[in-house]
Amino acid sequence: MNAYVQRVLNDLIARNPGEKEFHQAATEILNSLSVVFDKHPEYEEKGLLELLVEPERVIMFRVPWADDNGKIHVNKGYRVQFNSAIGPYKGGLRFHPSVNLSIVKFLGFEQIFKNSLTSLPIGGGKGGSDFDPKGKSDMEIMRFCQSFMSELYRHIGADTDVPAGDIGVGGREIGYMFGYYKKLVNEHVGVLTGRGLTYGGSLVRTEATGYGLVYLMQEMLKDQDLDFNNKRVVISGSGNVAIYAHEKVNQLGGKVLAMSDSNGYIYDENGIVLDTIKLIKERNRGRISEYVNYHPSATYVEGCKGIWTIPADIALPCATQNELDLDAAKTLVKNGVRAIGEGANMPCTIEAAEYFQGNGVLFAPAKAANAGGVACSALEMAQSSMRTFWSFHEVDEKLKHIMINIFHNIKDAAARYGMNGNYIAGANIAGFEKVANAMMVQGVC
Ligand code: NDP
Repeated sequence: MNAYVQRVLNDLIARNPGEKEFHQAATEILNSLSVVFDKHPEYEEKGLLELLVEPERVIMFRVPWADDNGKIHVNKGYRVQFNSAIGPYKGGLRFHPSVNLSIVKFLGFEQIFKNSLTSLPIGGGKGGSDFDPKGKSDMEIMRFCQSFMSELYRHIGADTDVPAGDIGVGGREIGYMFGYYKKLVNEHVGVLTGRGLTYGGSLVRTEATGYGLVYLMQEMLKDQDLDFNNKRVVISGSGNVAIYAHEKVNQLGGKVLAMSDSNGYIYDENGIVLDTIKLIKERNRGRISEYVNYHPSATYVEGCKGIWTIPADIALPCATQNELDLDAAKTLVKNGVRAIGEGANMPCTIEAAEYFQGNGVLFAPAKAANAGGVACSALEMAQSSMRTFWSFHEVDEKLKHIMINIFHNIKDAAARYGMNGNYIAGANIAGFEKVANAMMVQGVC
């Protein structure tokens, strides 16, 4: 590794003790940027990497709320405003008990490069809380969201920082947070994306990450004279990304054999029926185990890791970070997998990703593959600013175009540095170049 990059990485690990997800993301990204720093000594002179790995601002706050029995709870709230070189901070909010500073920083760091890849003017940020929305009543969710926003509102703005959803934050939570922001600030502006269609949202935003993932995969497969038609596909998770990836795979003629949630997975060699998943997960907020009540031909297996033992041509991990490890990668490769698309953020461990690449599997890394969500969020921001509303077809076409572009940019970046087909390196380099150029001309700030 380039000596400067290694030194900054060592410092980062020493100065941010215990932040293992942040270390992991930084190690993966900095590793592949090493070749860029070999070519550009001016970056070291300007301290570019030291600036890049330190968030511009970290906001941490308490989020007190009362449950339906009047009992008081206190959660932690976070917003990491990582980098605004190319545009206002942009990135989702995650509500999940596992959320901590390390996870928010890893997500925020990745977001810088992902947002840059979309070619739209958005900087990188991320936030959330260790609040668990599972099992909470609507009123409890509303009180929590209002309390969360009662602090966050002073740090965000339509031209400053525009949060969106992520795990545990969907249309309902965005609605409650937006309503409270509007009340506090007395402005109806595009301060959050993923809003409902009746109050400034964009068509396709719900579908965007899943559709975008499949559009990018489609282009990557096409580059190798392959396609989705008749391919066996395994998708982990059954949330927003997984559901709409499934929908687009179906439209392209593929067959989804398995899906999961954090308790277990379902498998049916005849294909999983998406309408049933939508009913269980979107309408009833239920568990995936209920699927077998509707389709007795399917099987449910407790525990989610086993999903990767199912033979598939294409695997789309769309649940959470580090859900696919080296053992799982080995099993998938042994069973003949041809392509992996990371729908979730960092779902493959570094070892798993390297194993796929080392064994000739096409690998689309998260920051490229799941950039469709944030790209569509930026399209929502554009519509808000223009006070206009584009049709489903218009937004979908723009999304598709963006994803195809991303694939060619990461392919070209990898090739420019002599790493043909290494889309991890390509995505990191292509995402980095634009941010680095913007930072260089803006001076030390
Ligand atoms: P959701 O909350 O809608 O869904 C997450 C899904 O993953 C749920 O089905 C959840 O199950 C499941 N899950 C969680 N942990 C595991 C596990 N260990 N094994 C199997 N399933 C698990 O989140 P999203 O779909 O929005 O996000 C999924 C991933 O995609 C995250 O990494 C997110 O950061 C990333 N992403 C999302 C974007 C978006 O637009 N939504 C944009 C870009 C990235 P359960 O119901 O049991 O919790």
